[in-house]
Amino acid sequence: MHLYGNLLSGQPERQHISMSAIYYSQSYREAREKFLQAASGLSQTACLLPGLRGPDGLPLYTDTAYLGPRDAARLLIVSSGLHGIEGYAGSAIQIHTLKHILQPPLPDNLAVLHVHALNPYGFAHDLRTNADNIDLNRNFHDWTQGKPQDHKLAGAVHDILFDQSLMRRYVRAGAFLARYGACTAQAALTQGQFSNPQGLFYGGQALTHEARIWRVLLDRYGANRSHIVHLDLHTGLGQRGHGEIIVADGPDSAMFERAKDWWGPVTSLSDGSSVSARVVGDICTSFNRAASATAHTLATLEFGTVSGYKVVEALLADNRARLQGRGSLQVARDKMRKVFYPQDVLWQEKVLNRGQQVISAALRGLQDIKPD
Ligand SMILES: [Zn+2]
Repeated sequence: MHLYGNLLSGQPERQHISMSAIYYSQSYREAREKFLQAASGLSQTACLLPGLRGPDGLPLYTDTAYLGPRDAARLLIVSSGLHGIEGYAGSAIQIHTLKHILQPPLPDNLAVLHVHALNPYGFAHDLRTNADNIDLNRNFHDWTQGKPQDHKLAGAVHDILFDQSLMRRYVRAGAFLARYGACTAQAALTQGQFSNPQGLFYGGQALTHEARIWRVLLDRYGANRSHIVHLDLHTGLGQRGHGEIIVADGPDSAMFERAKDWWGPVTSLSDGSSVSARVVGDICTSFNRAASATAHTLATLEFGTVSGYKVVEALLADNRARLQGRGSLQVARDKMRKVFYPQDVLWQEKVLNRGQQVISAALRGLQDIKPD
């Protein structure tokens, strides 16, 4: 009706003009420049990733921007790009937040730390992993305790997914799903594996340089706080455009209750309510919670893009092209972009709005905690 009305009246049809291009970027380099510009005037640090370069030949950095009093008791940390290519959405949320909701001054007891591009190599090269095929969100394991156990079906799932015959792969995957169910299949694939450096969701053999940078930042900024909230921004799992909050602790915990109060419906990895399976060595394990008096509220904000099947297909195409020399690198890269960074204005706007809503609610929640 509306469309015909416009045509009949001779009025030009109203275009949906998006402001999202201001915040979103088409390369790591552009995202970094926008982030540094949005954070100008704030205290910044640039942590170099040694020995590695972007496709433009330039060095790669994890950058931070700190807003608020240095000795504030309460700290909100927002981080992006732990899974490289997922940094496009995370970076846009950070830039949007810096421009619109984090106008100084903050209350005396509150500070915000943005950590931009935790995996700058993956971000710059459109990968989910780092340069060594390591999934950094499986790498924060305490390696002094030895290597974590793989899921008992991790090898079987890999064997099926890497079957070179497409037909046989479908048949075997169907049989596996019929026998074990989708939840077990997801857990076996995504929980993290520590045996196959060429495989998917590989967690490494020791703490990576990127993980060490994060630990140094936590030591530097996390000390002497009464409460730390951490929001780690991701894309790729769940309903398209929906931003699910996945809380580190389970439904019986004080953290989960607090998260529900601040954000409304939230999920947890521990009870099967989340779009994600339980994982080993994720970034939440890097907080030394037992050894400090600091209270923590740790969550992942995960934005859905396309079906899990398409995501796995893209990860396999990337793996085959990059590590096995099979298939075009450019085609794989395009697939990765499609599934982790949709070029869809409505999706991008939804992500910005939800990001702003969640960060604003976290700041209000932190502010409203009873005096220390
Ligand atoms: Zn992710």
